[in-house]
Amino acid sequence: MAAKVVVVGAGFGGIGAATRLADLPVETTIVDQRNHHVFQPLLYQVATAGLAPSDIALPVRGIFQDDENVDFRWATVEGIDFNQRLVHVDAGAPLAYDYLIIAGGSETRWFGIPGVDEHALPMKTLEDATNLRGHVLTQFEKAAADPEEVDEGALTFVIVGGGPTGVELAGAFVELFEVLGRDFHHLDVGRARVVLVEATDHLLNGFTEKSQRSALDTLGERGVEVRLGQSVDRAGPGRVHFKNGEVLATNTLVWAAGVEPAPLAEATGLERGKGGRIVVRRDLRPPGHDNVFVIGDLAGAVNRKGEPYLQMASVALQQGHFAGRQVGRLVRGRRPRNFRYIDYGEMATIGRNAAVAELAFHIRLRGVLGWYAWLLVHLVRLAGFRNRLSVLFNWAWSYLRYDRQARLIVHPEDQRSHRAPASDTGTRHLP
Ligand SMILES: Cc1cc2nc3c(=O)[nH]c(=O)nc-3n(C[C@H](O)[C@H](O)[C@H](O)COP(=O)(O)OP(=O)(O)OC[C@H]3O[C@@H](n4cnc5c(N)ncnc54)[C@H](O)[C@@H]3O)c2cc1C
Repeated sequence: MAAKVVVVGAGFGGIGAATRLADLPVETTIVDQRNHHVFQPLLYQVATAGLAPSDIALPVRGIFQDDENVDFRWATVEGIDFNQRLVHVDAGAPLAYDYLIIAGGSETRWFGIPGVDEHALPMKTLEDATNLRGHVLTQFEKAAADPEEVDEGALTFVIVGGGPTGVELAGAFVELFEVLGRDFHHLDVGRARVVLVEATDHLLNGFTEKSQRSALDTLGERGVEVRLGQSVDRAGPGRVHFKNGEVLATNTLVWAAGVEPAPLAEATGLERGKGGRIVVRRDLRPPGHDNVFVIGDLAGAVNRKGEPYLQMASVALQQGHFAGRQVGRLVRGRRPRNFRYIDYGEMATIGRNAAVAELAFHIRLRGVLGWYAWLLVHLVRLAGFRNRLSVLFNWAWSYLRYDRQARLIVHPEDQRSHRAPASDTGTRHLP
């Protein structure tokens, strides 16, 4: 009988593993609490109406339509019985396995700052991105209906976190607001502010100083107010309080400041190390569990120098491919190898015609060249041929027409449900 493999999580790690397992004589079941895989690096484009949600996500069943030996269970994993080799889920019978790959990813980290969990908007899931898009567009509608709302912070958009997500979102907000300037005939859209807050003294941590400076300068030229060395003390309804005593009236506080392992890490009962990530050996197996691999954001894997791998899509994907291949080795009675990450570099776009790309072989691209590199890499990496075509078309349209087509409020804020509502209208914002 073919060995049974269960893959927990259909993110970059899980999908990477399952694509390798599909070619092996094993029966694989992917289990995820969502029925789709999301290309998270482009979430900010959904949040700023540049792309539709279906451009950056694919149903898991659709990805493996042609692979008879790969199945999917739409369920949340509640616990794992490593002795009985059973994955306990909230829908249907427990899933039995011979080999298990855990790729549960991470979730937004609030750092325990008072009021932030309640009042800030996260950017981690497709629902977060569409909610943020609806929320931002709603602020403009509110301001159009009552211009006094602008003084109350309706058009002040604060983003916390100067990493790639914060930088990309800030640049894209400015571009969206240019389009909205043409939409709203009686509203002074020029009063809209984008404030990017970063606790350290630089943007894009991990990039070279030149790239950090380039991002800072470009954002400044485009009208983004970048506040370096500033951190949030607390958030309340309609206000964000900074540690230096400053208070900003805003209806929109976007949290792009960090992630922490998904609750699944704790539910497994496995040993956790730095940052709460699950401890694994260099072959990505937790000590004492020879038929289990933990990969991606959830795994506390380290390189040969003992440095932890970054929580990045490229790391998760390579680890997924690796884990899938190692299951193949175990099935054939061989020992797994150690994981080695091939670093192709990092990039971040700041908006139209501007990006920084720091690639392998010390290739450094900034400005328009960096932007072309960014476009190409993201198109190639995006799962699904139809998605690539659709994204290419949308990007070309936006570029030529200075447009952002998906300006739709499809989740009116009073119908939001994915997180606990913060006010009696069900609105999770700073009212
Ligand atoms: C806004 C944003 C922008 C990013 N930009 C970049 C970028 O430009 N470049 C880059 O390299 N990286 C980027 N990243 C990071 C990258 O997306 C992650 O490192 C990567 O997704 C990690 O892959 P993963 O498989 O570990 O987890 P994920 O891709 O997060 O997948 C985890 C999966 O597990 C599922 N899951 C979790 N718990 C359970 C459970 N209990 N039961 C069932 N299913 C469960 C989740 O639903 C999810 O589908 C970005 C991340 C975000 C949020």
